[in-house]
Amino acid sequence: MNLFQSPLQKIEYSGFDKPIYIKRDDMLHPIVSGNKWRKLKYTVAVAQKLNYTHIATFGGAYSNHMVATACACAELKIRCSIFIRGQEPMDSHYIKTAQLYGATLIQVERSQYADKNKLFAAHFDSNQTYFIAEGGKGLHALQGVGEIINEINLAKYALVHASATGTTAVGLAGAANKNTFIHSVAVLKNQKEQEELFNEYSVQGKINLHMDYTLGGYAKTTAALMKFCTHFIAETGIMIDPVYTGKALFALQILLQNELKDKEVVFLHTGGTLGIFSPAFMQKF
Ligand SMILES: *Cc1c(COP(=O)(O)O)cnc(C)c1O
Repeated sequence: MNLFQSPLQKIEYSGFDKPIYIKRDDMLHPIVSGNKWRKLKYTVAVAQKLNYTHIATFGGAYSNHMVATACACAELKIRCSIFIRGQEPMDSHYIKTAQLYGATLIQVERSQYADKNKLFAAHFDSNQTYFIAEGGKGLHALQGVGEIINEINLAKYALVHASATGTTAVGLAGAANKNTFIHSVAVLKNQKEQEELFNEYSVQGKINLHMDYTLGGYAKTTAALMKFCTHFIAETGIMIDPVYTGKALFALQILLQNELKDKEVVFLHTGGTLGIFSPAFMQKF
């Protein structure tokens, strides 16, 4: 996996009270989501080092992790199987993209999907197939994400990003020094789960988790968020999506007027731009 440093770009946007920096991890790869790429970098390196020729993982029908894993496996010439949760139609552009990369997709019912170890054991031999957790979480993921901090050469800044499982937040917090303030904008209502993860890695004191901008839950949108996304894209030329980066940048407008008013701000673009091409968004736009 080729991983060069993504640029740190200064932007001015009329909805923001001041210029901010954007860490363009969306530019790490044309298709694959930035933070999923970071999370996979060392994870797949381990699989490769151990001479595995097959990787299996899990995802939803609109999962950035699914597409990222499929692509990484194609590059490394490793066979890839992905369990897809639920009865969602198997023709989303995410599914199709993973299939283009040659992944085998196995659709399973929600009830079966819950016990991932059992599901894995029923299909594969762990001596031959390397298992990657849903969303790509795990120690190697944290190591990959932590490298983002070393690539930002600013003395003191607030680093703002969209947070779902909290893995990215933990990876950033683990690598951050006392002059980097992590601001994680939750894109779903899972405060308890995220805080438990922060506690598990003893980084709870280093992360400001913002729970007020979930807009009703995962992938839920409002007319104002949709308008913001289209306006931001047209004015900056930077693609965002309403599920992750768009939601977090929408929140950033308000944070910039309050607690981040006097801070140097870096927004981490975690990628995920395939999301904007979802029919749900395109039909409303
Ligand atoms: C998965 C994802 C996130 C959330 O990352 P977590 O580590 O689960 O918190 C943020 N942005 C994008 C684009 C993603 O695909």
